[in-house]
Amino acid sequence: MRVVFGPGALGSLREETDRLGLRRVLVLCTPGQRALADRATALLGERAVGVFAGARMHVPVATVAAAAEAARAAEADGCVAVGGGSTVGLAKALALRRGLAVVAVPTTYAGSEMTPIWGLTENARKQTGRDRAVLPRAVLYDPDLTLGLPVPVTVTSGLNAMAHAVEALYAPDGSPVVAAMAEQGVRDLAAALPVLTDRPGDPDARAAALQGAWLCGACLGSTTMGLHHKLCHVLGGLLDLPHAETHAVMLPYVAAFNLPSAPDARAALARALDADDPAQALARLADRLGAPRTLRELGVRHEDLSRVRDDVLAAPYANPRPVDRAELDALLERAWSGT
Ligand code: NAD
Repeated sequence: MRVVFGPGALGSLREETDRLGLRRVLVLCTPGQRALADRATALLGERAVGVFAGARMHVPVATVAAAAEAARAAEADGCVAVGGGSTVGLAKALALRRGLAVVAVPTTYAGSEMTPIWGLTENARKQTGRDRAVLPRAVLYDPDLTLGLPVPVTVTSGLNAMAHAVEALYAPDGSPVVAAMAEQGVRDLAAALPVLTDRPGDPDARAAALQGAWLCGACLGSTTMGLHHKLCHVLGGLLDLPHAETHAVMLPYVAAFNLPSAPDARAALARALDADDPAQALARLADRLGAPRTLRELGVRHEDLSRVRDDVLAAPYANPRPVDRAELDALLERAWSGT
């Protein structure tokens, strides 16, 4: 897809929607990002046909139905998603359901804008799939829009992005191109995130972090994820845990488990993190950033772990190290207690 990157990139929104031939554009956001959606609306001028400010985590089908009705009533031919993975996820659902062209303006580091992966939640079950139709046609990365991203979200969202790169490095369908993007993405984020915990408004660090998120998102979109993403998907779905926080907690534990079986990935991460033991470096980074470090902190009860283990073992997925029941129990125990 087409990418516009840089401070002020939002200013080219009208040009980008015109380039796609869009005439009637619906702007999507969460309730908390209404002011930004209004800015996007002003930039679109008469091309804007409304704002749907009801995007929510995990893309509930009821939200999709309400947004689809708003798009139908406004005769929208495209949508602009301004926000994080939840808002981009809603735009993807509209692409799937109503064939709307999507322009994404990401404001977190989740990376959904770079992937053909969609997700929908109905009756507490999240269904996901891949379809090229949901890929945004254009992505505007404007670091200025992330200057006010709260530090806790910056940290967990950044670690969420790094997890995409870590798993792309040992994916069965990886490539030298993906590996190069993954290594650089981890390097960018590992350098930028500690700066941002001290100076959240640092424009250079914001640009570096957003570039890292772009690279890591592209890795997610190009490869098949392994144990880490499987675990986070099950934890999120079964226990309704927050997405980015769950990734932030699990990443060092899964890296410690998998990297001994993935020497090339381990070497790339050692370079990117400038450390002999990349899993330990990820744990130290998470500590330094003040990220949540245990499942217990996220409210998981010890007795929930066996259900998570059973769900993870129920369906096969790609992973560099085979996972048996006892090893998975031990991994979950470590992530729960912080050992
Ligand atoms: P999010 O989109 O839910 O945003 C978290 C909160 O931060 C929201 O309240 C939002 O309004 C606020 N926010 C966002 N940007 C802000 C900013 N710049 N300043 C202030 N507040 C801001 O969270 P997320 O972590 O970006 O996305 C998580 C969702 O994305 C999950 O549902 C996950 O499954 C999905 N996801 C999908 C893919 C994919 O490829 N399909 C990839 C990654 C994540």
